[in-house]
Amino acid sequence: EETHRQPFPSCCIAAPVERSVQLQELLARPLALAIEQEQLELAFQPIIELESGRVIAAEVLCRWDDPVLGRQSPADFIDVAEATAQISSLGRWVMERAFEALHRWDLAGLQLGRICVNVSPLQVQDPTWSSDLLMALERHQLTPDRIVLELTEGSILEMSTHVADQLRDLRRQGFALAMDDFGTGYSGLQRLTELPFSEVKIDRSLISAIDYDQLQQAMLSAVIRLSDATGIMVVVEGVERSRQRQMLLTLGCRHGQGYQLSAPLSERELEALLQSQITPEA
Ligand code: C2E
Ligand code: MG
Ligand code: MG
Ligand code: MG
Repeated sequence: EETHRQPFPSCCIAAPVERSVQLQELLARPLALAIEQEQLELAFQPIIELESGRVIAAEVLCRWDDPVLGRQSPADFIDVAEATAQISSLGRWVMERAFEALHRWDLAGLQLGRICVNVSPLQVQDPTWSSDLLMALERHQLTPDRIVLELTEGSILEMSTHVADQLRDLRRQGFALAMDDFGTGYSGLQRLTELPFSEVKIDRSLISAIDYDQLQQAMLSAVIRLSDATGIMVVVEGVERSRQRQMLLTLGCRHGQGYQLSAPLSERELEALLQSQITPEA
């Protein structure tokens, strides 16, 4: 009984399929309850202009600390939410709370340009998703250019034409579209042309050794050249050392996210950070 309630240590679980089935059995009901009772939380990780150190945007990351099971990784519970069709309600809640926060910061005069929200194609599949998105935007007096919709490279591989059409439509309406975790899949640069992406987030595995590995440097240079030529903004994820940051600047990379720049923050912490970077007038 007691061990059954513990999250499975991943080392005990051999096959990925089996692991996901077990996770699903363990987490599905507690997750449903957490969504229903609004026990999830949001963290906001600043995206930084490397040259100046200014916060230009923040990525919204879902957090779940279950009273019985403890803190769960989004990598696990997002999977479960997708497998059990709870991703729609989870995603709707995240969107609502994130927009609400951005609106509050606007009213407080804090200058956060944009928020980046992770989106699963399964959400987009939901026939009411995009109208809900537009209504939430209006309710919080925001415009589409304030919102970045992040889709992982992996999820794009399996995307239906219906979902792709919805995303193209939202892009036309002014939403930003980011390809997340770029470089983790098998898809390559060509995938960038299949949807009208306005930005690309380079996965941390591609810059893990950027401060000393010449192959990583050459690859990133190529991606930056391509992105500059096509007007796509590049954000590098997983900047953990100041030497990486220096090399990124040298290579012409302008925006980054990672523990060296800032960990994911609570709403309060981000507010304090934004407050501190407001330049006093006159
Ligand atoms: P992601 O969208 O690629 O988000 C970045 C992840 O990298 C976050 O993990 C963040 O905490 C972590 N990270 C940030 N800086 C560093 C660093 O310097 N080093 C390392 N090693 N990691 C860093 P997190 O919060 O555990 O989220 C994992 C994934 O779960 C996210 O990856 C995203 O794909 C998904 N996710 C999180 N929240 C949501 C959500 O609300 N909806 C959906 N659909 N997916 C979400
Ligand atoms: Mg993301
Ligand atoms: Mg990512
Ligand atoms: Mg990721």
